[in-house]
Amino acid sequence: MIYFFLIILGAVFGSFFNVCIYRIPRRESIVFPGSHCFQCNKKIKPADNIPILSYVLLKGKCRNCSIKIPIQYLLVELLTPVLFILLYISTGFSINLVFFKYIIFISAGLIIFFIDYNQQIIPDVISLPLIIIGIAVSFLPAIDITWKSALCGAVFSFVVFLVTAYVFKLFTGKESLGGGDIKLMTAIGSFIGIAGTIFTIFFSSVIALIILILIGHDRRKEFPFGPFLILGAFLYILAGRFLTEMYLSLFRI
Ligand SMILES: [Zn+2]
Repeated sequence: MIYFFLIILGAVFGSFFNVCIYRIPRRESIVFPGSHCFQCNKKIKPADNIPILSYVLLKGKCRNCSIKIPIQYLLVELLTPVLFILLYISTGFSINLVFFKYIIFISAGLIIFFIDYNQQIIPDVISLPLIIIGIAVSFLPAIDITWKSALCGAVFSFVVFLVTAYVFKLFTGKESLGGGDIKLMTAIGSFIGIAGTIFTIFFSSVIALIILILIGHDRRKEFPFGPFLILGAFLYILAGRFLTEMYLSLFRI
């Protein structure tokens, strides 16, 4: 029953995230007007606006103008319930304060992931409130990290990224980490604390480096780092305990 609820909740949230991903970077309202086709502007009927199902039934096309709706819409609607279920499992099968805390983080993270991937920007309207929320909730009782850890995570992230960006610019004259990345990492630090911060920075850098080498990235183009940071943070939140135990077991003789 709970899984059924999480699937429905995730799909509905995912559908809303798609609206945010499209509209926030364009500075449009995320509430008004209601859902409409981005090509022909025709309003989408409620029956054609059911998450996942409508995409499949309409074969990923607008009913009015038949323009192809990017597969990303379906992906987000499927990914959100999967992440919500994994979160539920990682919180020890309970809907508690920690669960709600990370529902906020995963929601914001998903939206940032796709906006940065599509347009190489990380909107302040999402990352700045996240920093405040992350630090504020760390003062609540029965939360997963202490406020000291949250504060250290945020400050450490901010300083490390700022210094890295500055040094890189000094030696190469090029932008590496943008202001968006610095604010995003500060938000991540405030949510997952100092241990999670170190894990995320290490993991995202390694994965980003591997991808850069594999695809032979064109140096003139911008390379979004945000998605890797989100990926690292998600992995830490959803499997952190498991990964830490696995790592420590390597030294257990
Ligand atoms: Zn249309």
